[in-house]
Amino acid sequence: MTYRVTLIPGDGIGPEVTRAACTVAAATGVAIEWETVDAGELAIKARGTPLPDAVLDSVRKNRVALKGPITTPIGGGFRSVNVALRQQLDLYASVRPARAIAGEGTRFPETNLIVVREATEGLYAGVEHWVDRDHTAAETVNVITRKASDRIVRFAFELARAERRKRVTAVHKANIMKTTGALFQTAFREMAAKYPDIPADERLIDNMCMQLVKKPEEYDVIVTTNLFGDILSDLCAGLAGGLGVAPGALYGDSLAVFEPVHGSAPKYAGQDRADPVAEILCVELLLRHLGEREAADRVFRAVWETIAEKKVVTYDLALPGYTQRPVAPSSCSAMAREIARKVPLVDLTAPLPRPPSAGPAGAADPQLEA
Ligand code: NAD
Repeated sequence: MTYRVTLIPGDGIGPEVTRAACTVAAATGVAIEWETVDAGELAIKARGTPLPDAVLDSVRKNRVALKGPITTPIGGGFRSVNVALRQQLDLYASVRPARAIAGEGTRFPETNLIVVREATEGLYAGVEHWVDRDHTAAETVNVITRKASDRIVRFAFELARAERRKRVTAVHKANIMKTTGALFQTAFREMAAKYPDIPADERLIDNMCMQLVKKPEEYDVIVTTNLFGDILSDLCAGLAGGLGVAPGALYGDSLAVFEPVHGSAPKYAGQDRADPVAEILCVELLLRHLGEREAADRVFRAVWETIAEKKVVTYDLALPGYTQRPVAPSSCSAMAREIARKVPLVDLTAPLPRPPSAGPAGAADPQLEA
């Protein structure tokens, strides 16, 4: 069977990391026919819009897509191509697993949690305006609906059940946001009652940030609204080793788009330096979505072993300041080839290897802090 999947290379480092991801996908032996469509800067040049109908049509037809990051044009036109894509395809669930890989680049080698973020409304609904002509006051409306809250919390409980996760934690600020926060909280409590087999609890967003940087290993599935989820998913990416290794997925009722948490990193574009792991782990998530479980396990395992072995890794996993085990950095394409080489060779029954000095990592990562 051949799967037809939309491929959106995107901007900046997008073409490099999606090429790397396709190299690894090919190594799994799963037959995927990529239908490549351009969004972002290339699409603006060719068609005058960063999000042509052809992109939306392709995703609707194939129902599954692999996407690179897209630069948000500064100035007029779209608020953000990424936000527009989510809204137009009703990709309401943004799912970001934060898994520390081989204990590298993290102070929290046991981190293994999933942030489920509502992606269509909240403070990103685009309802905002200047209050006066002089632009001395402004308002952004936080749109929270019962329908969107119900479906995102249901999604989180279904995910927890399917992946045998131990707990779902809702994050909100219902003590201060007495309408929007309370609406989301009520939706969560009523949905939790329908899933008595899955322990459920709640945290206020400020407390959650503190809890996560102290003991992330205590959390499992976190479900929250759009802005809180955006912030928490980057925080959790940092806990798990940085943007270079953080994949993501966007789900609607019948569509799925896989994209890394990171952006287009324009300063590294065209240099073959960017870490391809986040995009490669998007392929892992995509294969799981297609039901190709063994191929997905092989990709995850090959990534893990490559990082643990640390012979062919990009700068963010190699250089002093990013890691306690510095080595010479490799290129994006070389790391992808190394992961692809390992994919058919890995032993899925062996325990995951730990590198010699895995554990609390060194200094903060200056490049990935932005
Ligand atoms: P960014 O994620 O592109 O970069 C943040 C930092 O991380 C930079 O220092 C960058 O060099 C580094 N970095 C990111 N990915 C890396 C990788 N794979 N390997 C090594 N280093 C990496 O964030 P930004 O600079 O705020 O945004 C750049 C552009 O990307 C903006 O136009 C933004 O709107 C867009 N963006 C798009 C998406 C998306 O397409 N989903 C997500 C976030 C940002």
